[in-house]
Amino acid sequence: MIAIRGATTVEHDCAEEIKVAVGELLCEIRRENKLSDDKIVCIMFSNTSDLKSYYPAKAARESGFCSCALFSSLEPEIDNSLGKCIRVMLIVEKCGKPKHIYLNGAKSLRSDLTEKFAIALDGPAGSGKSTVSAIIAEKLNILCLDTGAMYRACALKCIECGISPEDEAKVAGIIDDIDIKVKYSDGKQITYLDGADVSVDIRKPEISMIASKVSALKCVRTKMVDLQRQIASENSCILDGRDIGTNVLPNAKYKFFLTASAEVRAKRRFDENVSKGYDEPYAEILEEIKKRDMQDMSRKIAPLKKAEDAVEIDTSDMTVDEVVNKIISLIQVKI
Ligand code: C5P
Repeated sequence: MIAIRGATTVEHDCAEEIKVAVGELLCEIRRENKLSDDKIVCIMFSNTSDLKSYYPAKAARESGFCSCALFSSLEPEIDNSLGKCIRVMLIVEKCGKPKHIYLNGAKSLRSDLTEKFAIALDGPAGSGKSTVSAIIAEKLNILCLDTGAMYRACALKCIECGISPEDEAKVAGIIDDIDIKVKYSDGKQITYLDGADVSVDIRKPEISMIASKVSALKCVRTKMVDLQRQIASENSCILDGRDIGTNVLPNAKYKFFLTASAEVRAKRRFDENVSKGYDEPYAEILEEIKKRDMQDMSRKIAPLKKAEDAVEIDTSDMTVDEVVNKIISLIQVKI
């Protein structure tokens, strides 16, 4: 006897979707493992606690899997588990290697079965990239790379060295010595500059404009992009930035471009600053955001631009959860 595993997800907690998803999952398991019904001894399901409208076991029986023992159970609520998920285990009379089947995005539960993939999430300041990408990374159990943090660390280095971020010759003179590393603790990115954790310092409002200036320099971009590509080649990850879909990873499997009106983005940044104790008037933030947009969009190298094959999402009137769910549902269609 062997055990075969599988899982699937549904978009809504509704009986019809659960019935379809369970039928599809079992038929796929049967087909891929070349099973006849009389070889299936039992099928055991568990589902996440956000699914309440139908028993998967009942759905299995209604899909024609009625000659074996069926069982459903409810999983405990686990923070950040993949939502609306149905897991299954079949015990079958068969020898050989089982083919485990994960559908509708549930493959992300099994990184050992998933090929490495990258999600490019680009957009202007305040469009929600960092918040959204951190949540998606946690949900899909992949790495989250905030590429802006790297340019911010370069900006900090320029300040430390007393170098103007626009003086390309001087910046080129120190670029080889800039030691930027990112590490992860509990899934959160920690950015190091010359061995010191600068994750908090680089978020200071005054760093934003300098980062935007320094990021326009070729020598800076070459070094940062190399680092970003290296990280992406070693991990499944979501990268947020300005040029991920167009330049860093033009072959990324999934590409999204977040936008929002300048006013909405400035208000978000204002609220974020207030929560961190930074005091900058809304009008100034709005002005700076517009200026930074201009700078990021008009620079010669790798300007802020939507990749042709990126899905654009206007987040102005969307909650963070809505944006996350939209992206996850689009990704799950492709996985
Ligand atoms: O995203 P964040 O606001 O932290 O980025 C700071 C600055 O770094 C941006 O204004 C932009 O000029 C630059 N940047 C970039 N390319 C990226 C990410 C950020 O040029 N991939």
